[in-house]
Amino acid sequence: MEQLPKQFRDLLKDSPFRAMFEPKSTAGAESPPASGNPQSDGSQEELKRIRAFNLKPREIRDYLDRYVIQQAEAKKVLSVAICDHYNHVRQCLEDSAVRERDYAKQNILLLGPTGVGKTYLMRTAARLIGVPFVKADATKFSETGYVGGDVEDLVRDLVKAAGGDVELAHYGIIYIDEIDKIATASGATGGRDVSGRGVQINLLKLMEETEVSLTGQNDLAAQMQAMFEGQRGGRARKRTINTRHILFIVSGAFPKLAEGIKRRLQSSQMGFAAASGPRLEEDSDYLRLAQSRDIIDYGMEPEFVGRLPVRVACQPLQARDLEQILLTSEGSILQQYRADFAGYGIDFEITPDAITAVARRASEENTGARGLMTVLERVFRNFKFELPSTGLKAFRVEAATVADPEPALRVLLRENAVRQREVLRGDLQSFADRFKADHGFELMFEDDAIDLLVEQSLEADKTIRALCEDKFRNFHHGLKLITKEGESKTIPITREVAADPEKAISAWVVERFAQMTTTQ
Ligand code: ADP
Repeated sequence: MEQLPKQFRDLLKDSPFRAMFEPKSTAGAESPPASGNPQSDGSQEELKRIRAFNLKPREIRDYLDRYVIQQAEAKKVLSVAICDHYNHVRQCLEDSAVRERDYAKQNILLLGPTGVGKTYLMRTAARLIGVPFVKADATKFSETGYVGGDVEDLVRDLVKAAGGDVELAHYGIIYIDEIDKIATASGATGGRDVSGRGVQINLLKLMEETEVSLTGQNDLAAQMQAMFEGQRGGRARKRTINTRHILFIVSGAFPKLAEGIKRRLQSSQMGFAAASGPRLEEDSDYLRLAQSRDIIDYGMEPEFVGRLPVRVACQPLQARDLEQILLTSEGSILQQYRADFAGYGIDFEITPDAITAVARRASEENTGARGLMTVLERVFRNFKFELPSTGLKAFRVEAATVADPEPALRVLLRENAVRQREVLRGDLQSFADRFKADHGFELMFEDDAIDLLVEQSLEADKTIRALCEDKFRNFHHGLKLITKEGESKTIPITREVAADPEKAISAWVVERFAQMTTTQ
């Protein structure tokens, strides 16, 4: 919007077409903190870090170890590829002669099932290096870019992820998942079709080196801007971004690839003692042995496969790995729950048995570490809803809680009933304070009135605030009618009044008018 001329912006202000000119994200870019200044200090700092890149593979691996459990092979391979890439970037920035030399980029193919940390590895590495990161699924792109996305949007999203800093975006990381789903139908798997091939070819150009316009073909706002600049007689600035130093990671589960490799190995082992090699059990054992021709047979274009020299397979995660994630990963979903509860001043302890139970159930989901989110969400759902209103400061999650969270929650609420009453009493006082601030009357709740309202609030499963706002909604109108200038504005609320404030205030009003008529 901001870049449109003022008179056009004014016209659009209340127009239903406004949404067309709002910025939109197309490829799941990490949303950076909004930065009005494209060359913000933060990104200048990051550019400096890239120019001074001096990490060693082991340092990257150690950092990844803090967050990602298992995947030792992938961590090693990625650490080396990342170091090579950013060392090369630094050398190019230091010496333009290096830039002229041929260099085969270390684009990476990550194989392996879902939820085992493929994205997490790259996202964590990008954070360490301080480069922008975007992720998208290959399936959302179409060959022409008219229906679905245009692969070049990925590069533009990198600029957004870099807070608008085009320079920083040049060194970002683009991660494309589900690449196996754009295998062509000619492959062994019955993949998408010819358009999958088109998308592969388009991606190929990006991975190689190309200039991408910062204005997308669907970005109407930027195109209008260029048009207005042209009309004003100025030459429309054509801004582009070169993809030469962008690191590409593509990944996919390649579900049937392991079978293909197994077949290849079996046929090549005919005539040899089949047991002579290492014993291969898991699909991932076979994926590690993937050669270019296996991936090409799967339906990926040879040129495309050729641009992905670094290949590594991630392992499926076992229940004990999921346990380790909960216990040791610095970014585990459990930490997120801790932070969520801490937002209400609540702490929780989770017993080792409970951790084991969560991991076991999560592993039954067959979605890797994503299963942890599913299981924990189910365990904590009602705890998150109920506990913030109870005044409870700490609780314990046991294996029984994981097996059946509801009874455990009920026990906790019952044990905490006394404290909950105190909290509700506090809430009632807050209601009285607000009433005084809004209407000038001080409601003095007597003890048995408090008990009644607390009971009603618990019974109706309503907060004290909602209950009292409803019950006392007309109370102040009546109070104004019956209170004379100079009279006390402190109103005692007995149990009877609390039971039916409408009835009480009506009676008081009638009484007041009766008094007035008799004194006249
Ligand atoms: P995928 O392999 O499908 O790319 P992700 O990396 O997106 O899976 O994993 C989803 C989430 O699960 C991550 O954000 C992370 O919290 C958790 N996770 C997955 N694998 C691991 C792992 N090996 N170690 C720690 N956490 C993991």
